[in-house]
Amino acid sequence: MSLDNLRIESRLAQLGSQEEPVTGAVSFPVYQATAFRHPKLGQSTGFDYARTKSPTRKVLEEAIAQLESGDAGFACSSGMAALQTIFALFGQGDHLIVSLDLYGGTYRLLERIMSRFGVTATYVDTNDLDALESGWKPNTKAIVIETPTNPLMMITDLELVCSWAKKKGILSIVDNTLLTPFFQRPIELGADIVIHSATKYLGGHNDVLAGLIVTKGKELSEEMAFLHNSIGAVLGPQDSWLLMRGMKTLALRMERHQENATKIAAFLKAHPQVESVYYPALPDHPGHEIQKRQSSGNTGIFSFKMKDARYIEPILRHIKLIAFAESLGGVESLMTYPAVQTHADIPEAIRRQVGVDDKLLRYSVGIEHADDLIADLSRAIELAHKEIEEGETVHG
Ligand SMILES: *Cc1c(COP(=O)(O)O)cnc(C)c1O
Repeated sequence: MSLDNLRIESRLAQLGSQEEPVTGAVSFPVYQATAFRHPKLGQSTGFDYARTKSPTRKVLEEAIAQLESGDAGFACSSGMAALQTIFALFGQGDHLIVSLDLYGGTYRLLERIMSRFGVTATYVDTNDLDALESGWKPNTKAIVIETPTNPLMMITDLELVCSWAKKKGILSIVDNTLLTPFFQRPIELGADIVIHSATKYLGGHNDVLAGLIVTKGKELSEEMAFLHNSIGAVLGPQDSWLLMRGMKTLALRMERHQENATKIAAFLKAHPQVESVYYPALPDHPGHEIQKRQSSGNTGIFSFKMKDARYIEPILRHIKLIAFAESLGGVESLMTYPAVQTHADIPEAIRRQVGVDDKLLRYSVGIEHADDLIADLSRAIELAHKEIEEGETVHG
């Protein structure tokens, strides 16, 4: 049966389950072959060579295109590979407008690699139309948006900005890693390209590195297929299968991630040693109303600032259930220190401008029980507090 008219939960659970007509396997097989026999000269089964098209990857690619309401999907070996493939649309003399509070790796790719090919970028608050106008140049070819951003959870009004981009005749590219199509579908709001680090929520188990691209429109989809095949940073069949296996439970996981993050953000907001909490579900978060309008839920990661930077080191040392580790979006809770980890490649001046300072921690809330997570964090903050007080008595 066609899954197209089913709700997203059903489409996710059934991902790949109705695609194998010969044996009826409900888990789509891993086709490891790189070469495919031609029936005769001038004929093909639709598969020729695995870099161009591969059966297991194809099921994943069609699924993500459908989930994101796009026309074509492309699976890449990582989120960065997906971004690199997208940025290959641009060349000498082209200019991009990019979200200010950006994933560090994307910033590094633009500033240290794409710059070698003559592609320049201006970083602006993409929710500020005046900033967009002043960032725009006659050679601007696209706008690259993350919403919410990471780590500060800045929200961009996608409908507004994508329609601005359309008027300017430039492409809108949205990194939808943090919300996934379960909560937000940028193409329905006017975007041309969606990119995912599928390593995060789509895979969901901290065990597969992958990137996905979805394009809208025939011409753009054909161009992306050309780049995807020509560059060759494609996802292998085993990882394609593992990613699909993870995506089947996306709905359940996202609901639990959101529920846990909402509880823990509220706990931290009321904590005397915490200065601020950055989470779009909080009613006083800037962009809360926009987020509510354009998404059906909230991500499972948020950031918070301690009142005093001296808490950071002991908190990271004392958390036990929550792992001190980079990455986000998996079933296991992870905490990172953006200023020295994920965002180290972003110059200090830009980091300060957006507020990524030495008091900020980012928390990717897993699907453990919220009470256990709160107990772990609460204990770590308490122990940190004790150490700081003892230090003051000794040295003061
Ligand atoms: C992790 C991440 C990337 C990069 O993806 P990889 O899979 O690590 O290569 C890009 N964008 C965002 C928002 C990310 O969180």
